[in-house]
Amino acid sequence: MEDLIARRSALLGPNVSTFYDDPVHIVRGDGVWVWDAQGRKYLDCYNNVPHVGHCNPRVVDAICAQARVLNTHTRYLHELLLDYVERLTGTFDAALDTAILTCTGSEANDIALRMAEAVTGKRGIIATDATYHGNTTLVSHLSRSNIPEVGYGMGDFVRHIEAPDSYRIDDPDGHRFAENVQRAIEAHEKSGIGFSALIICPLFLNEGFPAQNPGWLKPTAERVKQASGILICDEVQSGFGRCGSHFWAHQKQGVVPDIVCLGKPMGNGHPVAGVVTQSEIMDQFRTAFRYFNTFGGNPVSCAAAMAVLDELESKDLQANAAKIGKMAADHLNELASRHQVIGDVRQSGMVFGAEFVLDQTSKSPASKFANRVVNAMRQEGILLSKLGRHKNTLKIRPPMPFDEANLDQLMTTLDKVLSETPVLV
Ligand code: PMP
Repeated sequence: MEDLIARRSALLGPNVSTFYDDPVHIVRGDGVWVWDAQGRKYLDCYNNVPHVGHCNPRVVDAICAQARVLNTHTRYLHELLLDYVERLTGTFDAALDTAILTCTGSEANDIALRMAEAVTGKRGIIATDATYHGNTTLVSHLSRSNIPEVGYGMGDFVRHIEAPDSYRIDDPDGHRFAENVQRAIEAHEKSGIGFSALIICPLFLNEGFPAQNPGWLKPTAERVKQASGILICDEVQSGFGRCGSHFWAHQKQGVVPDIVCLGKPMGNGHPVAGVVTQSEIMDQFRTAFRYFNTFGGNPVSCAAAMAVLDELESKDLQANAAKIGKMAADHLNELASRHQVIGDVRQSGMVFGAEFVLDQTSKSPASKFANRVVNAMRQEGILLSKLGRHKNTLKIRPPMPFDEANLDQLMTTLDKVLSETPVLV
């Protein structure tokens, strides 16, 4: 292990992050399980990229079969890309009928921002102050924590607004958020930069997935529309049925975005991502910018992405996300009744967690405790993480086939770890 860590830093440079104080060296995966080099089995409660399960046989077979026949770029004609885009756009509102496939979510968001610029002729972007949208030069400036130590940054082109936080900020229907968006729109217009786009994850997953009433984004979408701006929903994490009630999280939030960005789960680990939008926006983008991506939309990627849709449908995994997510929330609420350190329970389909606080009245974040819990769970063979502005909320986001027995194992272990981990150290 020490050898691997030393080689990593020699070969990859400093600040390459690993999970856990005692990193896990995994060598094999199957469904919701991964194994380390010593043969120890871990329950994966974290990874949303192997959406339909690690090494899903249907996806692996589809990749291998297509790789044996042909893999090339999209300057040749090939049905698979068209068949996939047709099927993908069929899961959206009728207006969202065209797509570009990319290799990463970052690229998808980068394109979306350029589409907004092409349509509005303006460059002012609005994002929340606790978000992450990716790692290109443009997109990295949307994350406050990501702003590089060197370079010029985006200056006044990006305006950050308060991220929703249902535990501390009262905004059950999204009116406060919409007013903050409105103020940022006005500031962009007044500065002369002009308002181009609001980019948000519809479930605010990186921000800590606050509880929100259905239709929460409607007041915000109206403000964006009135200002002739573009609403970009970054569904890199929230899409493909994870929220349980809908295939896309923006549908749960009651809005039809102008652009939707996809990634992570789309190819079950194969690097395929994309941007879905309306024909008029696509026309303006394709006219304003010449765009080509060597790997994006290649036949092997399309075969992987198609197999993911087949697997989701044939196993009804969206329904599983709704069912297991609801049971998870019940379990966490029961734990909260016995463990004072749980201040709030949150859940949206197959993504759930608990916010830890030192004190229920002041709601002061128990961030170090959250870190200890995550590391103790790893020692117990359960992989999960933490997130949110204060990094004090458990992030539990397993592959979609996660079942009742897996949930029982997770919750029994969490109960034990919460009992054994000191809150104040
Ligand atoms: N958007 C969101 C909401 C994300 O969580 C991430 C990755 N964590 C990205 C975009 C970037 O995706 P990628 O790493 O594929 O570039």
